[in-house]
Amino acid sequence: MKDLYDIIGVSKASSQDEIKKAYRKLALKYHPDKNPNNKDAEKNFKEAAEAYSVLSNEKKRAQYDQFGHAGVGMGDGAGQGGFSGGIHMSMDDIFSQFGDIFGGGSPFESFFGGNSNRKQGRSSGSDIRIKLKMNYEEIASGIEKKIKIKRSVLAEGVELIACPTCNGQGQVSTVQNTILGQMRSASVCPHCEGVGKRIGNRPPGSGPDGMIKKEETIKVKIPAGVEEGNYMTMSGQGNENASGNAGDLIIVFQEPDHPFFIRDGDNLLMELHIAYPIAVLGGKIEIPTLNGKVGLKIPSGIQSGQVLRMKGKGFPRIRSRHFGDQLVRVQVDTPKKISRSVKAMIKDLEKDLDPIKDPYKKIEI
Ligand SMILES: [Zn+2]
Repeated sequence: MKDLYDIIGVSKASSQDEIKKAYRKLALKYHPDKNPNNKDAEKNFKEAAEAYSVLSNEKKRAQYDQFGHAGVGMGDGAGQGGFSGGIHMSMDDIFSQFGDIFGGGSPFESFFGGNSNRKQGRSSGSDIRIKLKMNYEEIASGIEKKIKIKRSVLAEGVELIACPTCNGQGQVSTVQNTILGQMRSASVCPHCEGVGKRIGNRPPGSGPDGMIKKEETIKVKIPAGVEEGNYMTMSGQGNENASGNAGDLIIVFQEPDHPFFIRDGDNLLMELHIAYPIAVLGGKIEIPTLNGKVGLKIPSGIQSGQVLRMKGKGFPRIRSRHFGDQLVRVQVDTPKKISRSVKAMIKDLEKDLDPIKDPYKKIEI
């Protein structure tokens, strides 16, 4: 498959601005209005639009840089080196996504200068973003959650009429004289925003856009190992627009603070305070883990600050078989209040213990 940067004719290090400029040139060069019945031009035009749809989106671009075509749903080996999977675009797609680069008084401006948050295509509703708190145990095991969301959906009984501005086409076209000759341009209809429909009669309770808020419960399967800030996209579960096409539901994960665990990537850290006799004699102590309590062997003669590793008791790495470890830093507790008899015993102990040899050490940093 052709490299997307090669298609646009830019380097991997190019800025968004440079990519835009290069794409504008290509789109102008291969625009079907300028190349009637030219199959090669059409192919190049499509190829450029598909490449641009990836490279103009920082997230998709990063995925492409990291994983190649497969990272952005462009399968390999799908016949004739053509695009396949998620990115295949028809001419209609191209015009609905990038159509208005040919519109307006100064070509391109409306699309490239406009609101970058606007959803590409514009013929689906807005996204819903929610935050989802998961505790460490849920993160470790993965979980199916039921989430309540409020979505805007088209109210039942809404009468949709064809948009009079664009006759239901979603696009308006204008003819413009340029130095390159007469250019027919298509731009997204300003009145229906590309939907092609407007609201006629609507049932009571619905908004002027014909929408009602509907509460829904959605089941989500969350894989084990997610981290704070990771997110999941459920396509088509966002708000609807007048054509009934919904945006996406975006679930952003949050980790709560835990009373004694700290997460460090795949590892789980904690401190364990032990009493002096166990530090000297050793023993077994029950330790909480992400999967219930587990016995941990404390070797005799352990020092304060020593770290014990419980292998595989940390977090699973997302979409892999790898598990992190649970690291337990041991702290020997020195009692502050002791009874008279204990005090006497410790005094005896002092006499019996060998003095500490070589007590001065460099601090380990
Ligand atoms: Zn319209």
